[in-house]
Amino acid sequence: MIAITIGYEKEDDTNMIQWRYGALSKQQIEGALLEALRAALTELFGPAPDDLIKMRMEQELHAMEQSSLALHLAALHDLTLWAKENAIPYRIAGTEASSFLLYLLGITRGCPLQPHYRCPKCHSVYWRFDTTDGFDLPHSHCIDDGTLMSGDGHDIPWRTYWGYPPHEPGFLITFPEQTRQSLLDALDQHWIITFDEEATVDHPDKDDPDILCFGHFCIALERDSAPTATSLEDAKAKWRALLHEDSKHEPPLPEPGSFADLVALFGLVHGIGVWDEDAHFMLEKLGYAPHELICFRDDVLQYLLDHDIADKDAWKLSERIRKGRVPESLPEALYDGRDKWLLSRIKKARYLCAKSVAVEYLLSHIEL
Ligand SMILES: [Zn+2]
Repeated sequence: MIAITIGYEKEDDTNMIQWRYGALSKQQIEGALLEALRAALTELFGPAPDDLIKMRMEQELHAMEQSSLALHLAALHDLTLWAKENAIPYRIAGTEASSFLLYLLGITRGCPLQPHYRCPKCHSVYWRFDTTDGFDLPHSHCIDDGTLMSGDGHDIPWRTYWGYPPHEPGFLITFPEQTRQSLLDALDQHWIITFDEEATVDHPDKDDPDILCFGHFCIALERDSAPTATSLEDAKAKWRALLHEDSKHEPPLPEPGSFADLVALFGLVHGIGVWDEDAHFMLEKLGYAPHELICFRDDVLQYLLDHDIADKDAWKLSERIRKGRVPESLPEALYDGRDKWLLSRIKKARYLCAKSVAVEYLLSHIEL
């Protein structure tokens, strides 16, 4: 895929890696992480961010505190900074991209907020709740200063990643197989080793040397052959190659009409029990677009929340449903819903992908 240049070579002490958090104590690291988050928030959204953005930040910071993950998040931040400095491509492959905090730190690529315009000059935010994906919004101009704005926001609920205690969010990151030695050398020097005895490189699967564990990290070394698209339009045109869709699906999957549909197709291709004659009927005869189907576990979570199921119950239920373990009886509120078709999709799903995985995967293969 991408040509890889490795700038980092470990020869002597002058090549020791300068970690951002390397010289700090545990408490100082947590403080520095908060500082980095606040600085990124101000840079993107100005000194007085929109209330919805402030609320999301607070909710996620609370979830991070509950899961005691700050130190490991800082460790991941440092690892991705090292990768960027050395032009080593990486991809976050778990559900981390549903977190706004990880987006602010530049660890993930896709903004998980609801669709919006953000003025780069005055930082005003204009929400567009009638759209599924901000990338499908046409260009617009800021009402206050006329600056050209493009749409953003892929609308991914943060709970998909953080969950509820005792759920422990982890990190899954991939690197190209060719960078194995540089990566091992970097991990060997990582400051997290001094705080976490478990943070040594381990091969959990003895039969697969391309999977490494490093404390709370799981690192997959991959030989990725997916092509890279040069624009959103190009990505929609190349969707089969990008998604490794080999036309085996019956009935055939539809062409994506929007970025939201392209993301949805990832879910349909990689989920189990989500694409069949009934789903096809919904598109062909009932006028649904792919992104309006149940394609992701996040869609189930949102569907349950929209039917007034309490936050924690909705998350727990969506966690069961995503693995195909649909309970015998579902909450009454769902049967009052206007949409019996979506409920039948939920019951048929046997495995549901996370939307964050789809968005992050696509954005790592599109040059924007
Ligand atoms: Zn403006």
